[in-house]
Amino acid sequence: MRTQLHINGQWLDGGAGTFPTHNPATGKVIAEVAAANTTDVDAAVTAAGTAFTSPEWAEMAPTTRARLLYRLADLLEQSGDELANLETTDQGQPLFVSSGISVPNAVEHFRYYAGWVTKITGITGPVSTPGVDYRTRREPLGVCALITPWNFPLAILSWKLAPALATGNTVVIKPAEQTPLSTLRLAELAQEAGFPAGVINVVTGGPDVGKALVDHPNVAKISFTGSTEVGRAIGASAGHELKHVSLELGGKTPSIITADADIAAAVQGNLMGGLLNSGQVCAAYSRLYVDRSRNDEFVNKLAEAAEAMTIGKGEDPTTQIGPLVSAEQLERVDSYVQIGRNEGAELVTGGSRADGELADGYFYRPTVFAQVEQNMRIAREEIFGPVLSVLPYDDPEELATLANDSAYGLAAVIWSRDIGTANRLANAVKAGTVYINMPPMLDAAAAWGGMKSSGSGREMGWEAILAYTEVKSIWTALT
Ligand code: NAD
Repeated sequence: MRTQLHINGQWLDGGAGTFPTHNPATGKVIAEVAAANTTDVDAAVTAAGTAFTSPEWAEMAPTTRARLLYRLADLLEQSGDELANLETTDQGQPLFVSSGISVPNAVEHFRYYAGWVTKITGITGPVSTPGVDYRTRREPLGVCALITPWNFPLAILSWKLAPALATGNTVVIKPAEQTPLSTLRLAELAQEAGFPAGVINVVTGGPDVGKALVDHPNVAKISFTGSTEVGRAIGASAGHELKHVSLELGGKTPSIITADADIAAAVQGNLMGGLLNSGQVCAAYSRLYVDRSRNDEFVNKLAEAAEAMTIGKGEDPTTQIGPLVSAEQLERVDSYVQIGRNEGAELVTGGSRADGELADGYFYRPTVFAQVEQNMRIAREEIFGPVLSVLPYDDPEELATLANDSAYGLAAVIWSRDIGTANRLANAVKAGTVYINMPPMLDAAAAWGGMKSSGSGREMGWEAILAYTEVKSIWTALT
C-alpha cells in the first residue's frame, strides 16, 4: 500500500523525509511514512480549495455524490479484512475490535451520510416583512482540516469525512503519527471510488503538520479529535481567526452503580466499557461509583473478571486485551498506577506490564483500584489505559454532584433497576451522552460529543450535517 502524501490525486514524497510507524505488539517498525512540511500542507490546502469550487465537485448532482459515498462504503466493506488487519497491526486493537467495531462503524458512516446527500434542505420562512419571499440554503464551508487521534483511526476519520463530503466540502486529513496506515488505505479506496482529485487530501506527520494545517488561512473549518490540551490550543487559534471548529476531546466517564443495580450486568458492562481497546477510548468507563452496601461484592467480581481476561497480540482471535499504542502511552499508564498507589488507593489487581513472550510489546494488565476517593488524581484525570477506579458512596442524593465534579463531560452511565432513578440521574449529569444499563455504543445516527472540557460541537446524526454547513438567507422582493 501507499505510504506517501496524497495531494491533488497524486502520491508524493514528503518534504520532511519519512517517519516510522510501529507495531505496538512487538515494538517493530511496520513502515516508513512520508513526513509533510509546510510547503506540502500548503499544496494540500490549495488543491482542496481548487477542488471545492471546481464544477466537477461543486456542481455534482446530489445523486452522483451519494453514489460516490455508497461506492466508498462498498470498497471499505470489501477490503474489511485487510483494513482490520492494518488497524490491528498499526494501532494494536484486537481483531474483534478492528473487524467487529472499527471497520463496520466506518462503513456505516459512509452509508448513513450517503443517504443524507439528497435530503439536505433549507426552509421557506414566514418572515413578517410584507412583499418578500424568504428562503434558506445550507451551504458547505470550504476546505475542512480533519485531525484525528490514534485510538480509533479509521472510525474517527469516518465520523468526520463522511459528513464533510456529503455536504460538499473538500478535506485535508492529518492522521495521528502513531497510526497513519488505515487513513492512507482509505484514501486509496476513495480514489478508486472515483472522488475527483483534490477533494480528499492526506498529509502525514507529527503535531507540526497539524499545526500548519490549523494555521493555514485557507482552511475554513477544523474538526479535531484528541487531547483536551491540544484542543484548547486549536480552539484558541480558530477563535482568533474566526474559523469553524469542532472539538472532540478527553473524558473521565462516571459509571454510577446504585444499590439495586444488577451487579453481574454492571461488572460485564464496566469491563467492556472500561477496558475495550485497553481503555484507550475517550468515553471509557473509568470512575465507578458504587453504593457502599454493594462495594465488596462489586469489587471482587470486577477484579476476578478483569484477571480472567486474555492479554495478547491483536491478531490472535482469542485476545481480549491488546497492547497500548506506544511506549509513551505504556509509561503514562504505569505512572498513573504509581500515582494511585501513592495516593493511598487499594490496588486490587493488575498494576504492571505483561511479561513473558509479551515483554517486547506495550502490554499492560487490566488494573482495578478500590477505595478510591474523589480528590485523587486517578479519579480526576484521563488515564487512557486499562485502569478502573472504584469509589464507594454513601448518599445517593450526592451522586449527580459527584459525577459532575469533573472537568470533563463526554459520557456517563447509570446502572439501576429503577427507571425513575436512572432517568433522573441521566437528566442531572452534565455529559454529552448518557447510557442506562449498557456499555458505550456509537451509531452514525446518534449525536456524539462532549460538554465542558470534553469539547464543543457534535458529530454523527443530523448534527454533523449542521456542523459542516452554514445557512444562507435569501430574500426576494415580490413586487
Ligand atoms: P493528541 O491531542 O496528542 O493528538 C491528536 C492529533 O492532533 C494527532 O494527529 C496529532 O498529531 C495532532 N496534534 C498534536 N498537536 C497538535 C497541534 N498543536 N496542532 C494541531 N494538531 C496537533 O491526542 P492523542 O494522544 O492522539 O489522542 C488521545 C486523546 O484523544 C485522548 O485525550 C482522548 O480522550 C481523545 N479522544 C477523544 C474522542 C472523542 O470523541 N471525544 C475520541 C477519541 C479520542
